[in-house]
Amino acid sequence: MRELLAQGRTSFSFEFFPPKTANGERILWNAIRRIEAFAPSFVSVTYGAGGSSRDRTVEVTKRIAAETTLRPVAHLTAVGHTVAELRHIIGQYADAGIRDVLALRGDPPGDPKGEWTPDPAGFTHAHELVSLIRQLGDFTVGVAAFPERHPRSPNWTEDIKHFAAKCRAGADYAITQMFFHVEDYLRLRDRLASVGCLTPIIPEIMPATDFRQIQRFAELSDARFPAELAARLEAAQDSPADGHRIGVEYATRMSERLLAEGAPGLHYITLNKSTATLEIHQNLDVRPQETQPTVTTTITE
Ligand code: FAD
Repeated sequence: MRELLAQGRTSFSFEFFPPKTANGERILWNAIRRIEAFAPSFVSVTYGAGGSSRDRTVEVTKRIAAETTLRPVAHLTAVGHTVAELRHIIGQYADAGIRDVLALRGDPPGDPKGEWTPDPAGFTHAHELVSLIRQLGDFTVGVAAFPERHPRSPNWTEDIKHFAAKCRAGADYAITQMFFHVEDYLRLRDRLASVGCLTPIIPEIMPATDFRQIQRFAELSDARFPAELAARLEAAQDSPADGHRIGVEYATRMSERLLAEGAPGLHYITLNKSTATLEIHQNLDVRPQETQPTVTTTITE
């Protein structure tokens, strides 16, 4: 990742989550194989709020490293972990040859908007995890950024100050929370530049193809959802094909604008499906890596 960032090449990447069932596993690997053919810059695997999904994150990430040509970025959160446990997980990644970690504080399990309580032997904020990962080896470390401000930050000044602390602790780049207004991303970048923080901020894009699903996501993340897009998706609720077309179209326009504004890359939430994100990627007609093979696949799930 560090080399990729240093070369200044635009990155294209995709986010997966660890599935809970055998069928979910099949769907995930179907998506991974389709996306692999497009030679993305990296893929990332989210880390569950607790329980067994965390072991699955480690397993899926290790399997991607071992069995595909993809570069996996492992999400890791401090939720419910002692520092010793975090060291152990980072060690597992190192042993598997994984050198890219997205260092996150995480949200309180159960109620993501509840009061954050650190593990007594753990970390309180993400910058501590960034420092630990950097101490433990030659990792490239990413962090979270929030175009609409972290929901728990009292104001922008505090938010930017704490983000800059993550960069000083050793973060190489950031990936944003999903957002739907390009201006929010641009303003965040300006705010960071105004305090001298020039860390590359990769925007995260969620294709909004399903009205109900997007409502749930936007509530959880506090993302402002464009009224016009919401109205179009609501009107298309009985036609998944129309919803899909509307969502892909909107995300394509957002992606084009972000690239034109100099975003260092685009990171897509896939929800373990490949169709919408690959359609957007194809609409952009860009090639992330010189070695990318020519792909003439017809995209279907
Ligand atoms: P922090 O940087 O620690 O910030 C959290 C809050 O504390 C902010 O308000 C910040 O301003 C404040 N703060 C920071 N430092 C200080 C300080 N020293 N003093 C006082 N206040 C401070 N969650 C998961 O559970 N699993 C995932 O896989 C996952 N992946 C994500 C991927 C991306 C791209 C993003 C954007 C988020 C992801 N999240 C994930 C959610 C994330 O864990 C939560 O949004 C969490 O609330 C914030 O994490 P953080 O790393 O930004 O925390």
